[in-house]
Amino acid sequence: MLPAVIALGSNLGDREENLRAAVRDIDALADVTVTAASAIVQSHAVKTTGTDAEAPAYLNAVMLVQSALDPEDLLPELNRIEADHGRVRVERWGDRTLDLDIIDFAGLLRETVDLTLPHPLAAKRAFVIVPWLQVDPDAEIRGHGRIDSLTVAFSDEVWLFEAAPLWTRP
Ligand code: AMP
Repeated sequence: MLPAVIALGSNLGDREENLRAAVRDIDALADVTVTAASAIVQSHAVKTTGTDAEAPAYLNAVMLVQSALDPEDLLPELNRIEADHGRVRVERWGDRTLDLDIIDFAGLLRETVDLTLPHPLAAKRAFVIVPWLQVDPDAEIRGHGRIDSLTVAFSDEVWLFEAAPLWTRP
């Protein structure tokens, strides 16, 4: 098993339930175990044109997992869970019921058509780093250093939506 960090986002439908259902579905995967989940934060949608305060706001959270799947095998499982929750890819960075991104996978580097690790935008995104800091204050992103040193360089803002953890083991 190797440690991985997965970011969750939703800005359509019952956003909170979409995030909770995604954690349950990921924990139910035979080769993946969820070890922690952050509080829920809220952020403006980011479109290709920049922040869009008119679009439905996102709820975001970060989860830590242990995975026996390689990142190349984890990603299609996450894409399937997104599809199960009604995600339709209409436009790049469009509104979505569920977005699941692998932020880091055991510090591995990947640069393929389907998978870039660590996630290339994570270090700039408050909606990733702020909830990640909650569950792992000593975390680092390969190439960027400790995540608690990144907070000055954010391109966006987040607000606390729900302080209780998105998920705790039943
Ligand atoms: P998105 O619209 O943000 O869900 O982007 C999904 C696309 O990003 C998929 O086609 C993935 O193959 C690709 N992708 C590249 N790197 C990653 C990553 N680290 N986590 C999730 N998706 C990734």
